[in-house]
Amino acid sequence: MKEAEAGSEPHPNPALFDAVVNLSKRRGFVFPSAEIYGGIRSTYDWGPLGALLLRNVREAWWRAMVQERDDVVPIDAAVLTNPKVWEASGHLATFTDPLVDCRSCKERWRADEIEGRCPNCGSTDLTEARPFHLMFKTFVGPVEDEAAIAYLRPETAQGMFVNFLNVLQTTRKRPPFGIAQIGRSFRNEITPGNFVFRTREFEQMEMEFFVPPEEGQKWFDYWCEQRLSWYRRYGIADAMLRLRQHEAEELSHYSAATADIEFLFPWGWGELEGIANRTDYDLKAHSKHSGVKLEYFDQASGEHYTPYTIEPAAGLTRTAMAYLLAAYDEDVVAGERRTVLRLHPHLAPYQVAVLPLSKNEALTPLAREVLRTLQRRLVCEYDETQAIGRRYRRQDEIGTPYCVTVDFDSLEDHAATIRDRDSTEQVRVPISELSGRLAERLDSATG
Ligand code: ATP
Repeated sequence: MKEAEAGSEPHPNPALFDAVVNLSKRRGFVFPSAEIYGGIRSTYDWGPLGALLLRNVREAWWRAMVQERDDVVPIDAAVLTNPKVWEASGHLATFTDPLVDCRSCKERWRADEIEGRCPNCGSTDLTEARPFHLMFKTFVGPVEDEAAIAYLRPETAQGMFVNFLNVLQTTRKRPPFGIAQIGRSFRNEITPGNFVFRTREFEQMEMEFFVPPEEGQKWFDYWCEQRLSWYRRYGIADAMLRLRQHEAEELSHYSAATADIEFLFPWGWGELEGIANRTDYDLKAHSKHSGVKLEYFDQASGEHYTPYTIEPAAGLTRTAMAYLLAAYDEDVVAGERRTVLRLHPHLAPYQVAVLPLSKNEALTPLAREVLRTLQRRLVCEYDETQAIGRRYRRQDEIGTPYCVTVDFDSLEDHAATIRDRDSTEQVRVPISELSGRLAERLDSATG
């Protein structure tokens, strides 16, 4: 399956897309939203395994960006906020995509994505491009008039800028320091698609890192390197990742430098995360519109200044998809083909599956006791029906790194077997040591 890794020049692998989409549906990672009503285009609900995967990716990001640092603090800002935020940020005026209609089949497309030809019917009879606004508009309160208009946030970043002073005053942070946030964002995308790659409701993981202006480039380089290594740390091979620097003409007017971290999706390279040196644009724009100076007073120099902001902005749902694609593999074990998700142990929905050798009255109480002990520290699944070999395959297919098997000998020797997903090797361990031994293996997987 991993054609992309075979040669020196990686190339996309369309068969992988179908395999992962099928697996996601079949095993409960991702379902079409409201499927019993026929769904709604390009909208998805994350199932039991998907919810666990998202939680783990969120946690992995949080760990690297907040927990393991003393210079980044989190916030959790509102989705609905004062519309003046979007006026100041420029979203109200410019957050648009160029839209064209096909006069033949009436489909709508993003002009920059189709090179003058309708992808649906092939017609070149298209309307002139016109700007289409991507923010979802709604009304706050009981009266639906101009004064009640609000927007669903199209990014989480503005929450960090408008809370800059609050955070400065309530924590003891000073530049260089960051504010991080994970949360839902909404964009009325013209052409959502490619499974969960582009959806209208999605989740972002963003951080704004405020630095003295002269240190902007240094911290931009630093965050490009840090973020790239985060994807590697959780199991994406180098050949599937690249950092693409934007050319000068591609840069937004406020950006001094931008780079995208790209992943080799089954259809080609696609953005996972954008990293930008946004200069002092956002803090200055909000200072101007609110009348509140968003500056830092540097006691050493006795001067006020507006910090520059370095922003690593990643997509949680898109990244979860990339991890699934990168983990998908098929191999042969003891002459039998299996599908295995080689997810990093910290990303796998379940860390451990507790499996009594068979569904038997004598084994169940001990197996359940093992489960209760392990559940205190680890996310576990319990499964006692079907032949043990088939249950191993089921766990391999959803990426569970360890299976613990309780058998009839366990009743005598108070030991159980740990089976490793990747090597399929099995070791016998005293039941009293299981929890510690598994936690040790998971800790050493941190990287
Ligand atoms: P794109 O060029 O793909 O539309 P963008 O450059 O507009 O993305 P940013 O505004 O930089 O995206 O958002 C940061 C990250 O949020 C993106 O790298 C992506 O991972 C994620 N993201 C943005 N839009 C969507 C979407 N519609 N669906 C899922 N994830 C998204």
